[in-house]
Amino acid sequence: MDYWNTDSGWSMSSDEPASPSGGGVLAVVFAESLNAGKALLATARQLADELSGTVSVALFNGDETAGNELVKAGADNVYLVASDSDSLLAGYLEAIKALIEQAAPDAILLTSGRRGDELAGLLAGRLGGTLVVGANAISVDYSERAILATQPVYGGAAIASWKLAGKPQIVTMRPGTASPLIDKHRSGKVEAFSFSAPASSLQVSKADSPAPPPDLLHASIIVAGGRGTGGDGFKLIGELAALLGGTVGATKSAVREGWAGPEQQIGMLGATVKPRLYIACGISGTPEHLMGIAEGATIVAINTAPQAPIFALADYVVVGDLHEVLPAFIARLKKAQ
Ligand SMILES: Cc1cc2nc3c(=O)[nH]c(=O)nc-3n(C[C@H](O)[C@H](O)[C@H](O)COP(=O)(O)OP(=O)(O)OC[C@H]3O[C@@H](n4cnc5c(N)ncnc54)[C@H](O)[C@@H]3O)c2cc1C
Repeated sequence: MDYWNTDSGWSMSSDEPASPSGGGVLAVVFAESLNAGKALLATARQLADELSGTVSVALFNGDETAGNELVKAGADNVYLVASDSDSLLAGYLEAIKALIEQAAPDAILLTSGRRGDELAGLLAGRLGGTLVVGANAISVDYSERAILATQPVYGGAAIASWKLAGKPQIVTMRPGTASPLIDKHRSGKVEAFSFSAPASSLQVSKADSPAPPPDLLHASIIVAGGRGTGGDGFKLIGELAALLGGTVGATKSAVREGWAGPEQQIGMLGATVKPRLYIACGISGTPEHLMGIAEGATIVAINTAPQAPIFALADYVVVGDLHEVLPAFIARLKKAQ
């Protein structure tokens, strides 16, 4: 009989033999995406339990409080890794390699997205492991102690099934495929991890940057743009989102045009979001996009076409050019602040 836990993105068969001994999972988490990290740990915990192993976490830029939250979400050991730069993949890579030497995990899990997928690719290249990017579920083949991963392909028209081999087996999990499983009574170790990276691999630069926007999956306000933005509309969308304390989302078309990152895509092949307020700018409202917006959101749609399908679903509609509507909206908000 098969058991399927959609909350953790994990499946297993009740017919499997006794779990092999040893084996552990290393999850890579970034403090600025802590909620995504907690969801990743739900999958990591299940995987480690099935392998009779432990869950170690490389937590970048997080403090002890964040580390303890990850323990409650399923971690046994959390290593706090400080990084000089938020986007320095080489620095992350060296730290993860050092942790792998210490924890010797069978599997490494990351959250799929621009940073996670790139890091995973670099790790697989350096370590010689096998990799699946953007999986939506994983399980274990007990006979070969291998991870089985499924991954939507061909624009979601098909699902590919992969069996990973060797060690480490690296998987990036799509956001939204698992929910955090919090146990307030769990205990584990949180400790600082120091490593010395080869100087030649690091290029550190510091810049003053604004606080990162809230995680798309947990944002209560999302301003999203589509093809109707023409690309330049995303500047206005970013400005409005910042004023409202929200996050910028996008349609697949906008991502394909390169106007937004893949981690900002909402819909069938992107994130499923649960905002209170969703402002759709230049978005037609196809089912593939709308299925990424959970029920309960108040939807405001700005579109030049009076017959745009999104108007059928929207709570508030603005028939007009977003290049005129958004500046007026932004000006009113600024005046009110
Ligand atoms: C298997 C599969 C999976 C998919 N998964 C996803 C997914 O995860 N997410 C996703 O988003 N899509 C997905 N798609 C694509 C989806 O079908 C649509 O093609 C896409 O969502 C359309 O994006 P859009 O609304 O930005 O563009 P369009 O459909 O081209 O709409 C643009 C809209 O902008 C309006 N507009 C134009 N100019 C202006 C202006 N100046 N001001 C205001 N409005 C203006 C137009 O009237 C139009 O309604 C998927 C498709 C397939 C086949």
